[in-house]
Amino acid sequence: MLVRMKDICDKAYEGKYGVPALPNWNEVQVRATIEAADATNSPVIFLTLNRFPNSKDMMDLIAKLAKETHVPVALCLDHSGSFEDSILGIRNGVTAIMVDRSEKSFEQNVAEVSELERIAHAVDVSIEAELGHVGWGDHFDNNDASLLTDPEDARKFFELTKVDALAVAVGTAHGVYYGEPHIDFERLKDIDAACGKPLVLHGGSGSGDDNISKACTMGITKVNIVTDVFEETLKYIGTADLAGNNVKNLYRACEEATFNFVKHTFEMTGCIGKT
Ligand SMILES: [Zn+2]
Repeated sequence: MLVRMKDICDKAYEGKYGVPALPNWNEVQVRATIEAADATNSPVIFLTLNRFPNSKDMMDLIAKLAKETHVPVALCLDHSGSFEDSILGIRNGVTAIMVDRSEKSFEQNVAEVSELERIAHAVDVSIEAELGHVGWGDHFDNNDASLLTDPEDARKFFELTKVDALAVAVGTAHGVYYGEPHIDFERLKDIDAACGKPLVLHGGSGSGDDNISKACTMGITKVNIVTDVFEETLKYIGTADLAGNNVKNLYRACEEATFNFVKHTFEMTGCIGKT
């Protein structure tokens, strides 16, 4: 069933587990992800963007397949950077918008998120924001403490904006890491203690399975994992027998790879059976 992201995150927060938020770039990925969720009784969140030629088609497909399964499926517009993009996402049928104003000042972030919070909640769409800034692994010093989330600021942010979930910067980075990620668990603990609300970890790929599992017991309810879905698919294809006429099994191999890895993300975040 298609649900609000808030429903998934609130339940995960209570139960001290996380739920993976995964890509939906093509039909193979979408079907394999929902099949894995269905087979393991796991809730799942899709990360969507408006900007691809097939974006709306994928959103419609997710909505259709979500209605055919008993597991909760949420559809979140990821890193929405403008007011117009968020409204388009809502029109396209997402059940959550992630409003990213993390590169703006605290006050500006609060103002722009609050404007969209009123609109999103008026139509029963969940809203996530980001405080501190999660950068990119290949051109970002993810150990720069000034970019990490301050616990007291996070508490104030929740109070001022009424967001349903907040992405925090605790040392992870988007994309492929060049170097080791250092997750600041002390900071995460302090943020959770200050806020008592669902938190989100961006840059889950390459962050270490144990690190993610641990973070999911400390208030992280949604873990964005995109790059690894592609990496693991590529690896799997490299080992699959696709010689000669078997080449026609290419997409079947992509589907198997996605199914297996998505199942692994449910194990890692602890959401199997949490429907
Ligand atoms: Zn992100």
